Amino acid sequence: MIAENLQQLRERITAKCIECSRNPDNIRLIAVSKFFGTEAIIEANRLGIRDFGENKAQELRDKFDVLVNKVTWHFIGTLQRNKVKYAVKSAEYIHSVDSVILAEEINNQAIKLDKVQKILLEIKTSFEDTKSGLTEMFDVLNLVRYCSTLSNIELKGLMTMAPLTDDKKIIRNSFTYLRNLKDKINQSGSDLRELSMGMTNDYEIAIEEGATMLRIGSAIFGQRDTTKDWRKS
Ligand SMILES: *Cc1c(COP(=O)(O)O)cnc(C)c1O
Repeated sequence: MIAENLQQLRERITAKCIECSRNPDNIRLIAVSKFFGTEAIIEANRLGIRDFGENKAQELRDKFDVLVNKVTWHFIGTLQRNKVKYAVKSAEYIHSVDSVILAEEINNQAIKLDKVQKILLEIKTSFEDTKSGLTEMFDVLNLVRYCSTLSNIELKGLMTMAPLTDDKKIIRNSFTYLRNLKDKINQSGSDLRELSMGMTNDYEIAIEEGATMLRIGSAIFGQRDTTKDWRKS
């Protein structure tokens, strides 16, 4: 099933790229494997997927230990301070940095591991209270500036989740907002390249709006059974 899903997904991504004159090589497909076991990850890896995303620090840590050095990990979930060490140990990118305190702790853990941690800032582009991320321009610029003072952090770009809605216009607005925000930040001296946006239901809009990283779960692995422990799947 993963093979068929992936083939379909890749075809649609390529078609969309052709349609809006983008090079598919400039878009990193991150397979979001939360709730799925290591066998599914190994299978997707065998089918050419190198990047995987997880949204819980302990789940990432445990899968990392099983699949050590086989795949590239992205941490995409809400990160508690006391779990930062797991994310820094395992993830090439942490997509969900939304506070000075978190950036500081990531830097501290990265220093301990003698690593430069690539991060993205998570921006709230919808006004649903359930979503996390930065909202105020002042806070965003402040955090960008703060990150530039940290020795072991490399700020690479921005991440967002579009609102849960069928209204394509609202989804597009959210992605356009993120792209414009990146341009605005770069005008004041930064060189942010990455836009992590687009999931199963909205990745085609995200490609049109300039996404460089897609975070896709169910279109690859199927529906998640959130009542099951990934170790038993
Ligand atoms: C689960 C998750 C995804 C993937 O969601 P799908 O709709 O299954 O593609 C992407 N980003 C984040 C932050 C997630 O938690």
